Amino acid sequence: MNFIPTAEQKAIIEYPLRPLRVIAGAGTGKTTTIVHRLAHLVSEGLRPEQAIGITFTNKAAEELAGRLRDALPDLAESGREVEVATYHGYAYGILQEFGALVGVERDTEIIGPGYVRQLLHEAIAAGSFDVLDLTWVPARVDEAVDLGSQLARNLCEPADLTVLPVADDVTATRREAATIVERYDAAKRELGVLDYGDLIRLTHRLLTEHGEIAARIRNRYSVALLDEYQDTDPAQRELLRAIFGDGFPVTAVGDADQTIYEWRGASTTNFEQFPVHFPAADGTPAETLPLTENRRSGSLILDAAHGVRSVLYDSEPFTPLRPVANAATGSVGAEYFRTAVDEAEWIGEEIVRLNAEEGVAWRDIAVIFRKNGDMALIRDALQALDVPVEVGSLGGLLELPDVADLHAWLRTIERPGDSIALARLLLGPKYRLGLGDLVALSTWIKPKRALLGDDPDLGWPLVEAIDQLEEIPDVSDAARTRLLAFRRLYRRFLELAQGSSLVDLCRNILDEAGIWAEVEAREPGAALTARVNLYRFLDLAEEWSPLRGTPTLQAFLAYLDLIADDKSAAELDTANVGAENAVVLLTIHRAKGLEWGTVFLPALTDGVFPVKGGAFDDPDRLARFIPYELRLETPVPIDLTGEDRKTALREVRDRQEWRTAYVGMTRAKTRLYLTGAHWHGEAKKPRPPSPLLEAAATADGIDINDRAPDPGERPVTMSVVSSEGAPDPVFPTGWRDALRQTMADAEWPATLVLDGVEPYDAAVDQIRLILDDMPAPPSAEAGDDSVDTSVTGLVTLAECPQRFYWSEVEPLPRRQAPAMRRGVKVHRLIEMHGRGEMPLDELADDLYDVTEADSPAIDGPDPYEVYLQSRFAQVKPRFVEAPIDIGLDVGRVRGRVDAVYEHGPGSWEIVDFKSGRNKQSTSAIVQLEAYALAAADGALSPTPPDEITVTFAYLGGGELEEVSISVDDHWIDEARQHLRDLLDSATGPEFPQSPSPACRSCDFLRFCDAGRAYVGDNH
Ligand code: SF4
Repeated sequence: MNFIPTAEQKAIIEYPLRPLRVIAGAGTGKTTTIVHRLAHLVSEGLRPEQAIGITFTNKAAEELAGRLRDALPDLAESGREVEVATYHGYAYGILQEFGALVGVERDTEIIGPGYVRQLLHEAIAAGSFDVLDLTWVPARVDEAVDLGSQLARNLCEPADLTVLPVADDVTATRREAATIVERYDAAKRELGVLDYGDLIRLTHRLLTEHGEIAARIRNRYSVALLDEYQDTDPAQRELLRAIFGDGFPVTAVGDADQTIYEWRGASTTNFEQFPVHFPAADGTPAETLPLTENRRSGSLILDAAHGVRSVLYDSEPFTPLRPVANAATGSVGAEYFRTAVDEAEWIGEEIVRLNAEEGVAWRDIAVIFRKNGDMALIRDALQALDVPVEVGSLGGLLELPDVADLHAWLRTIERPGDSIALARLLLGPKYRLGLGDLVALSTWIKPKRALLGDDPDLGWPLVEAIDQLEEIPDVSDAARTRLLAFRRLYRRFLELAQGSSLVDLCRNILDEAGIWAEVEAREPGAALTARVNLYRFLDLAEEWSPLRGTPTLQAFLAYLDLIADDKSAAELDTANVGAENAVVLLTIHRAKGLEWGTVFLPALTDGVFPVKGGAFDDPDRLARFIPYELRLETPVPIDLTGEDRKTALREVRDRQEWRTAYVGMTRAKTRLYLTGAHWHGEAKKPRPPSPLLEAAATADGIDINDRAPDPGERPVTMSVVSSEGAPDPVFPTGWRDALRQTMADAEWPATLVLDGVEPYDAAVDQIRLILDDMPAPPSAEAGDDSVDTSVTGLVTLAECPQRFYWSEVEPLPRRQAPAMRRGVKVHRLIEMHGRGEMPLDELADDLYDVTEADSPAIDGPDPYEVYLQSRFAQVKPRFVEAPIDIGLDVGRVRGRVDAVYEHGPGSWEIVDFKSGRNKQSTSAIVQLEAYALAAADGALSPTPPDEITVTFAYLGGGELEEVSISVDDHWIDEARQHLRDLLDSATGPEFPQSPSPACRSCDFLRFCDAGRAYVGDNH
């Protein structure tokens, strides 16, 4: 490997096996250094199994594991790896092994924030309170979430609060809130579940009560590496000390200046005090080594960041980041505008200029925000200029019109009472009902609603009214037609929701509600924006998992509710951007760890960023915070009280804001733009530039260009005209244009409508004819007790019936493997290509040069590259990701065909892309059988093909490997019988274990004796 370490890196890589703190500044090659430290130790004789790396997110863990495999390829080849885990995942693993000692069952489920809130809601509903104000229950749920997580972070229990004396309203409220957490804990015990806070608290209890277990775990390793250590909380620190304290050679890597998660419990003390918390065996504090050479940013960008960082240190000395020798200067623009709209429009135009004049790819530009709420103006400005945009923050994603439409369908399906979602659909461009159209419905439901008494669920009857539309008089013909169309689709989706996976349901909604069709009709940039963000939502639906069984729509929506909320979004969100050729918009918290050539940091207006306001962590004033006396550490000295405490807490919060800005600025490699505006948001007065902007401009060569020294009056509106939205079928060039034309010629609307009627009616007639010709849905064949599964389920069944049983019949906890997530990504790229969104050359050069962490190339050749070189990339498929639904007399099978190519009239090749290598699995043939059967039975087109070839295209081996079968009637008959027999076997009662090489990647290996024996025998 061609890696020449700097002197700083070399010192860390070769540091002896002693506790060590590494202060790794932004962009200084932290991951590279720690990977090489572990590789060096292995080259010195350490067995890889004796090392462990722990980091924060699954994504970071995947990246670290991949980099380690790349650094130690021979060992990886023989299946020997350094263990890599997340902090929570590591605790979970310990509880899996030894949890019985603290009453934790082996297969205990971990609940995410959605379930936590649900259980807390129930705990509130089940209680009676004297002082808690239940007027707005979600606020009480928020407080209980905060209180519960603080207790866990400080290794406390609710009883620690309920025993405290009640001195005032705050303590009385806190005591009642603690009883909610107590009830919530009881509910978790009853359900046999744990939350993330429990993982750390219980594991810590296990290890401190059973020192021999801690020693046993410790003895497994000779070195431990703690990544992003500045983000750990006090409980995590104590847990790590219980295992890796007392002189164990543990290396903590982090950067105190990048601690931006204090609000969710990260302890600034942890990193500062690491040398004391983890001393050497002789008791002396651990040594500290720095990484200060920045390999990312131009020197001027570092100077600007240095200006902000200096404020954090006040007058204390600190080591500045150094650019690498011969680094380019880079550029920093500091622009200040009259209004936030001017700022947004200028950013949009500058991005267009960079792309057009300087050839900067969209995907190498990011606009990063302190808050999701600041995103909309700039997103609209970019879309008005037809710039493709990828929203990397989930909170912002849900606000995008197409994603919001899909979300509204999901909400209407699962929550018929959600009148806001229903109104979005009915009043939107597809159904175009006016509020007046709904009057007849609401008049009809009024007496029924009265019968329901004070049932607040007023939205449900509206759906009910649509369901019984025939009984309702006074609905105009046009409205009735549209409502009937809505009802047909709604009923169809209700049915689909019963048997489909989340992602399949979403895909069907996109297809059948016409959202894809609308997207395709847009300008290229707007279409790409919609597409990449819809795919991102599909990825979310695909990857999201409640850890047990099939993810339900109800739980998924609860999760989406959380991410729609700014605060929770920041907690739950995971950035997953950069694969598409689109400008990235995301929050700084999501941008941490990422980098772009060009970065815009907007809204640098006084009072906007640094954010002012919000609650201070002062338990004397607010019940949601636990008393300092109970904490493992406090944000300010414990003896400060009253105003002194408030002032100190304000300073703590402000410092975090400055660190956040520092993290944002250091994401830029070549160009950094710092912008703001006098008039921002709802402010009543114009505001000066943020002190952050002033601090950055202390660097030589950076001046704030105030474009409106006299900001004048507040603008009446703060919005950018957006090109977003489906083309209006009546006014295709937009209503503004229509208004202008009408003002010029009052007769114009009449001519427009008359022009449109004929072809429209003709098209409708044509579609009717096609529909009348279509065969009856094949699903009608299936009986009530039939098996309903996916093609993937069928392959699992063919491979190992026991695995199918644990996947679908009695589901056990499982996790989606990283390799599977990468596979999903490759399929998504192929799907986008197949739909013909981008010219081939642009795809190859630019679009899919994905980051290492996102790329399947971590483990080998990039499957997407192989695809691009293949014959499949050169022609447009007839169908892409086409849904199939096959009815057999014993059940039904649903799935999606990756691609169907038509080589001549009636000659189809059905292709299933595999992002891995050909493992010669005989069970996989089931997949091709299902696809061929679907095509032959007319499930893909009313006119079945005359010739069918089915092909597996393996992309994971560096070059394309194809396995093709030409299918004839006899083959189809045998396939039908095979699938029927297979489905029949899924009714049980026997689900035998069928060990094979696939056991190695089976989620249930740890439960399965036969699988473990097989793996042991074939090691
Ligand atoms: S470990 Fe092997 S035998 Fe056991 S369920 Fe999984 S695939 Fe089947």
